Amino acid sequence: MRALSAAELLEAWERGLAANLTERMLILLGPSCPDLTGDELADMPLGGRDALLMELRALLFGPACTAVAACPGCGEQLEATFPVARLRVAADPPPPEVLRLHNGGVDVAFRVPSSSDLLALAAAGTAPDIRQLLSRCIVEAWGVDRAAIGSEDLPEVVITAISDGMAAADPQADVELALACQSCGAMWSAPFDIASFLWAEIHAWVQQLLRDVHLLARAYGWREPDVLALSPVRRILYLELIGQ
Ligand SMILES: [Zn+2]
Repeated sequence: MRALSAAELLEAWERGLAANLTERMLILLGPSCPDLTGDELADMPLGGRDALLMELRALLFGPACTAVAACPGCGEQLEATFPVARLRVAADPPPPEVLRLHNGGVDVAFRVPSSSDLLALAAAGTAPDIRQLLSRCIVEAWGVDRAAIGSEDLPEVVITAISDGMAAADPQADVELALACQSCGAMWSAPFDIASFLWAEIHAWVQQLLRDVHLLARAYGWREPDVLALSPVRRILYLELIGQ
């Protein structure tokens, strides 16, 4: 994996503006992971994608993350800073291509979801509903008489078991952040979604970057590519020189 330059990241952000979150992550990972094809990235289990996003995040913005959350005990807003590596689940072994379970008289063969599955649901205008997702991820399901069962006819208990099986096989796709409130001592955990977290950070970074481009272009007559080519350190030093 390689980090994106300021110009590449700005371009990826611009392309991602009209895209959904799943597409945005593929737009970011494409140029960052030159060894993987677009199809390989799209068909990767979501946990594998999230592990790559965490690696990319550390390359772009450093290893420490700060998340903001409201305490469920007292409502206090708190900031938690933690190394992004803490959210990495041991990567081995990767989820098997096909998982199997037997539950409630039903046998199911299924796989864990990928970006392609989320994109297909988004293209169909479907909310990310578990049954819709399962209709793509179930390879085969059959009852006691070996009769095939469609995902829409699976009992709720089997849906839950498949969902649990997916989470167990691909734990990186479903990470929780342990939080503690200094004010009231409450302790809880909250889901941490690296995709929306990273996109929000990139969005904030772009706003700051464009402001810097504006100020430096106006002060020195430089063009946008000139400013984007500066290292962050030199950009800050020039901004200081023009009193910003
Ligand atoms: Zn609290």
